[in-house]
Amino acid sequence: GGTVAFDNVVFAYDPERVILKGISFEVPAGKTVAIVGPSGAGKSTLSRLLFRFYEVTSGRITVDGQDISKVTQASLRSAIGMVPQDTVLFNDTILYNIRYGRPEASDEEVREAAQMAQIGHFVEMLPMGFKAMVGERGLKLSGGEKQRVAIARTILKAPPILILDEATSALDTNTEREIQAALDRVSRGRTTLVIAHRLSTVINADEIIVLEKGEIRERGTHGDLILQG
Ligand code: ADP
Ligand code: ADP
Repeated sequence: GGTVAFDNVVFAYDPERVILKGISFEVPAGKTVAIVGPSGAGKSTLSRLLFRFYEVTSGRITVDGQDISKVTQASLRSAIGMVPQDTVLFNDTILYNIRYGRPEASDEEVREAAQMAQIGHFVEMLPMGFKAMVGERGLKLSGGEKQRVAIARTILKAPPILILDEATSALDTNTEREIQAALDRVSRGRTTLVIAHRLSTVINADEIIVLEKGEIRERGTHGDLILQG
């Protein structure tokens, strides 16, 4: 299972200003759909609606045909894993932060997920960076490192549905390719919604949807969209 469908979704944070103006698309179970578009198009808003950070203004979002506004947030959140743009970490070890994705996971599984996300070397550290408070175990993480913690957490959780929001945007090019490989592995066979700025990062998506000013401008495979310019 895990087919996600947006059916004429309209959304406004503020009634005066409609952000998403009737969006319809489907992510078939196990497939990857990428939403691409300029800043402010409404891409992140789409992903927040699927995760139910906000409720749709009209229209509906379904998972396997079931309206998500009618399922509990807990069950929705156990089915969906999200790698957000900005990750907020707990003031505890990196291991603890990764395990949060699946508390019953074994130590070995947690370490394996950390390895896949290229952070196996600092899992015992505390991410808050206040050396004065925690001594040598304190580590100040970069945005990219925080994102890798979120990726490890998602790898461990292995949910049927994944939302990757600018998943590699905060990473440097060297680690980006390795992370991309890890994400490709974890998204294989899972229903995946990728939010991206550039077509070049979503070549393998089954469908790419170009969003502009809250409307779908174009859709197709990477090849289709490149041909259209
Ligand atoms: P490009 O499409 O060439 O990446 P953009 O203007 O979309 O150009 O983005 C430039 C940089 O700024 C990228 O690294 C992108 O990730 C980042 N960026 C742009 N808009 C946002 C946004 N709304 N949220 C987070 N990062 C953004
Ligand atoms: P994208 O991810 O494509 O850059 P967003 O979904 O982040 O676009 O934003 C779409 C529009 O919604 C933007 O005009 C942005 O300013 C607005 N917006 C985003 N988040 C909020 C919020 N929490 N409250 C009000 N407006 C918001």
